[in-house]
Amino acid sequence: MFPSLRRARPVVSLAGGSALFAGGVERWLVGLRWLALLGMGSTTLLAKVALPGLRVVPVGAILVLLVGANVAWHFVARARERHVTAQILGDVATLGLVLWFSGGVGNPFAVFLVFQIALAGVLTTGRTTALVTLLTLAIVTVLAFASPLPWETARWPVALLQRLAMAAALFGLALFSGVSAYVYGRRLEELRAAHARDERLAVLGRLAGGVAHELNTPLATILLASNELVEVGAERGDAEIERLSRTLAGEAKRASDVIDLLRGRVHAGLSSELLDVSTFARELVPQVLGRLGFRGEHVVVAAPRVSAWGARAALRQILENVLKNAVEATVDTEHPRIEVVVANERADVVIRVRDNGHGIGGEDLQRLGEPFRTTKAGTGGTGLGLYISSVLAEQMQASLELESRDGEETCVTLTLAHGTFPRGLRDVRRGEGPGDATN
Ligand code: ADP
Ligand code: MG
Repeated sequence: MFPSLRRARPVVSLAGGSALFAGGVERWLVGLRWLALLGMGSTTLLAKVALPGLRVVPVGAILVLLVGANVAWHFVARARERHVTAQILGDVATLGLVLWFSGGVGNPFAVFLVFQIALAGVLTTGRTTALVTLLTLAIVTVLAFASPLPWETARWPVALLQRLAMAAALFGLALFSGVSAYVYGRRLEELRAAHARDERLAVLGRLAGGVAHELNTPLATILLASNELVEVGAERGDAEIERLSRTLAGEAKRASDVIDLLRGRVHAGLSSELLDVSTFARELVPQVLGRLGFRGEHVVVAAPRVSAWGARAALRQILENVLKNAVEATVDTEHPRIEVVVANERADVVIRVRDNGHGIGGEDLQRLGEPFRTTKAGTGGTGLGLYISSVLAEQMQASLELESRDGEETCVTLTLAHGTFPRGLRDVRRGEGPGDATN
């Protein structure tokens, strides 16, 4: 019911940002509403027992409608501010309607109207909160004129029933406020941590981009000169000069490739197109794993006709980087296994790469995605694979997440929007141009 209360999984968002209640405000509200409906349904039944004169048909009808609406909300895709606003405004209005048929301001549960204002305050904008407040004030005014509860039909002493109802209302209010405040507090902590991480990444990105920019010109000159030197060596028949200058040119090329990567120059013609992601993954995965010499078992589970807007070259690069990491993580695993899943999920297309390798945890996990951050320093790791992948994912307005259980498995999820409109590529951090590398 409350997805956000589940034990936090070690997930790191590499691209696509992490909003408060990311993707989940609506689902969370839907969960909260199920609880509220359960509470309203049961108190209405109890009230009917205590006050046989209570007319439960209108309240029952509204509750049934609300159940239907909540099922509908459940299927409304993605959390968007206006949906949250619509939900809260709808809740205030329907609560007002329920109260109208159940005693108006004389119903102790009228205090729940105030809870909605608090909820709007933490989940939505100031304007929406003001709107909810105004609506609540109007509803309270109208409710002052509602017919009172039929206390005269009470089966038990009225004073006792009123006290019990008041206690139940306060109990419910305390429970709802407590749960919401707890969840919100937890999310706020997560948001602060994510924000600090984003800031650090942005600074590192700028730093890396700046250094790359400064080194670009001298490196290009070294590359040019060393290539000429190779020719000079060949012309003079001096094998030693030729060998040394070839080494020089090779290393300068390597450095220049890294610079290109750091500046976001991954492929020429990075343009967005509607991709058949299933076919793409089915073809690419075995090919890349074969090239990387993966000896374990691999499966590609791709639902048919899953398509999304994205740049083919960027998608290829991200998948290659992620698969390479998966292969490297499973070298010491007894039965290496890499699973790639392509599926439609809500309004998105997800590509998941899961491996049963050594995983990653602690500080390494928290600092994931920083340029040059690698745990493979001794074996040729550059620490650029995930960084570049995150830059590319951002360019495609996609999100990239890594989730890992240290020592057990790692799952990298790329989420693309599969809308029917062409989505432009975002110009993030650095320029564009040719270059290619897998890290
Ligand atoms: P590199 O592979 O050159 O080290 P990456 O940016 O590709 O750089 O990855 C950064 C780090 O993230 C790796 O050094 C590794 O510690 C960790 N990592 C990435 N993918 C995985 C994975 N599938 N399993 C375990 N650790 C991983
Ligand atoms: Mg790598």
